[in-house]
Parts: sequence; C-alpha cells; structure tokens
Amino acid sequence: MLADRVESSMNEQLGMELQSAYVYLAMAGYSESESLPGFASWLRVQAREEVAHGMKFFDFICDRGGRVRLGSLGEPPADYKGPLAVFEEALEHERAVSEAIGRLYSIVVEEKDYASQAWLDWFATEQVEEEKSVGQIVDSLRRIGDRGDALFLLDKDLAARAGA
Ligand code: MG
Repeated sequence: MLADRVESSMNEQLGMELQSAYVYLAMAGYSESESLPGFASWLRVQAREEVAHGMKFFDFICDRGGRVRLGSLGEPPADYKGPLAVFEEALEHERAVSEAIGRLYSIVVEEKDYASQAWLDWFATEQVEEEKSVGQIVDSLRRIGDRGDALFLLDKDLAARAGA
C-alpha cells in the first residue's frame, strides 16, 4: 500500500511527466515550423520518452494498490525566440523535474517507503542524464551563435538520435 501522501505525490509526478511530454511536443512543433527537422525529431523522441516516464508512475501507483488521479495539463507556449531559447527552457524544465523528483524522494524516505525509494533511484539517475544531454545542446547552440552553417550541422546531428 502507498501512504496517502506518497500516492498524491506520485500522482503529481505522473502529471509532471505528461506535462513534460506536452512541452517537448510544443517545442517539436515550433522546430518543424522553423524547418529544423533534426531538432523536431529529437524533441519528438524526447516527448515520447516523457510519456514513458509518466507511464512508469502510472504502473507503479497501480502495482502498489494506489489510485491514479490525472489532473489537467497546462498549455505550453507555441512560439519561441529560436532554438537556443527552446533548449534553455528545456534545461530549466529538466532542473525543475530533478527538484520535484528530489522532493518526492524525501517524502518516501520520511514515510519509510523503501520500495518506492529503490524504485525512484532510476529517476534520480535519469535526471542526471536529462540535464546533461539538454545542457550539451544549450552549450552547442551558444557556441554556434548565429552561424547558419553550424546550426545546419547540429540539426543533422540531432536527427540521428536513437528512436527517431
Ligand atoms: Mg521525465
């Protein structure tokens, strides 16, 4: 069984993962409109990954005899100032997700829910990877500045992401 406090926090995180998918999908749509198919493809893959994260929470809540409760999703922005702004926002978003996972982790520790703690380890590690990969793209975009040829090459590079 899940403690009430753990169940509601798990549901909250389930919503945040689905919201992440929604945000990445909006960013993918923007990138398509800017004729950056590699960026769009990377962001589409990321959106699918976020749905998979959400489903991990969905399944875990059910497996532990909890009740899934879905809240409403917020409307993500449709427009961005450019690819750098997209990835700066993505980095900020991933940092917020890491903090939320950290808060959830403290709650399950306080509730002495060791099964949830062990299960959440995967997410804590995954967030290190998320911040690293998004952070590297931010750094590349800052280095590129307004050089269209370099942006073209990065777009080609991002298209190669597995699962695309
Ligand atoms: Mg996630």
